[in-house]
Amino acid sequence: MTVTLVPPTPVLPAPAGTDPLAVLGVPGEINLDHAASAPCARAAADAVAELLPWYASVHRGAGALSRRCTLAYERARQTVGDFVGARAGDHVVFTRNTTDALNLLARALPAGTTVVTFAGEHHANLLPWPRGSVRLPVPASPAEAVRALDAALGELRRVPAGRPAPTPAGPPVLVAVTGASNVTGERWPVAELARVAHRHAARIVVDAAQLAPHVPVDLTALDVDYLALSGHKLYAPFGAGVLVGRGDWLDAAPPYLIGGGATSHVGAGTHEVRWSTGPARHEAGTPNLLGAVALAAVCAALTEADRPALHAREQALLTRLRDGLAALPHVVELRTFGPDAPRVGIVSFVVAGRDSAEVAARLAAEHRIGLRDGLFCAHPLARRLLTEAAARSGRRDLPPTALRASIGLGSTVADVDRLLAALRDW
Ligand code: PLP
Repeated sequence: MTVTLVPPTPVLPAPAGTDPLAVLGVPGEINLDHAASAPCARAAADAVAELLPWYASVHRGAGALSRRCTLAYERARQTVGDFVGARAGDHVVFTRNTTDALNLLARALPAGTTVVTFAGEHHANLLPWPRGSVRLPVPASPAEAVRALDAALGELRRVPAGRPAPTPAGPPVLVAVTGASNVTGERWPVAELARVAHRHAARIVVDAAQLAPHVPVDLTALDVDYLALSGHKLYAPFGAGVLVGRGDWLDAAPPYLIGGGATSHVGAGTHEVRWSTGPARHEAGTPNLLGAVALAAVCAALTEADRPALHAREQALLTRLRDGLAALPHVVELRTFGPDAPRVGIVSFVVAGRDSAEVAARLAAEHRIGLRDGLFCAHPLARRLLTEAAARSGRRDLPPTALRASIGLGSTVADVDRLLAALRDW
């Protein structure tokens, strides 16, 4: 048998041009569903293409290919950590996605931790938390979110008169909030919420799944303890995400996954195991090298990019989309915080008198526009906003589910206008 060694040349078709943030797409298909999964950026495709021929095991082999792959994996960790402003003492743990990262943190909480969330969270940031977690009502404004958190933590931390103020050594409390809503795109006042959390000796985790693709997120600047994000929402392919944050709870917790790689020593006895510390503790099994490298490549490209210019471009498209929808009398937008709250490129809405699934299906079939319908894995919030939209608009014919259009790096004025034109005649 002859074994053919393929030389390390790119094996994926590269997108046209040289912009590392140009995205792959199918001509004629309009993708307005970036919030679900963003298309792959050239940087990610190139990084995967470059590494594919070198494919070998990570942290397990002594060969040149394996060593190169191990190096690439650890460099990816460093790049992603830098991208989110990881501090000394933080761990960057590769996970499958945001859901996986938040579940990891939920399993790593010290015994007796109370988690405080808002009811408007994505299910990934609502359901993994332990029993006894506090779920605050959806606030009407960012300022109300800050006030409500302050009051709730004050209540949790209430100490009888004359007793000392709470310290980090007191019963642990974790605040879990989103950076930007996957339903409305509205941004949450993360830095203020972090300040409040810390004033009450609580920690805070930010679900940055929808924030990180749109604006720089810096753990240090925001003074946030943990952050979770997904590569597939950040222009990298599926299967890689991260949990980044303080190492102490992570090193003290039982491993999230149990198996090879998470151990520094296993003896002959059944219970004779020493678990690793650092990210390896929670990353048992052969890791997703290509996913990590692709995610890191996009992080590096975004770090180099003119983020203010990208943001301005996105906001212009968002304004065009929202203004266009507002001009359609049969369309009602969903929102939590009011029309002028800062937001990323996500808009949810309903077409009065029309089933949202039917509208979405017709947009796909007749106009080749891809967007999302349903309750967006944030059922409590979406249902509440639908009820509010009915009250605000005075319409009794709003459907029970919604539509969501979300824009990103590859979106154009023509994409937005095609959607608006398609909705005009409904
Ligand atoms: N958090 C938010 C705000 C999201 O929008 C999503 C996905 O839509 C998630 C968490 C879960 O992300 P993933 O499905 O990549 O785990």
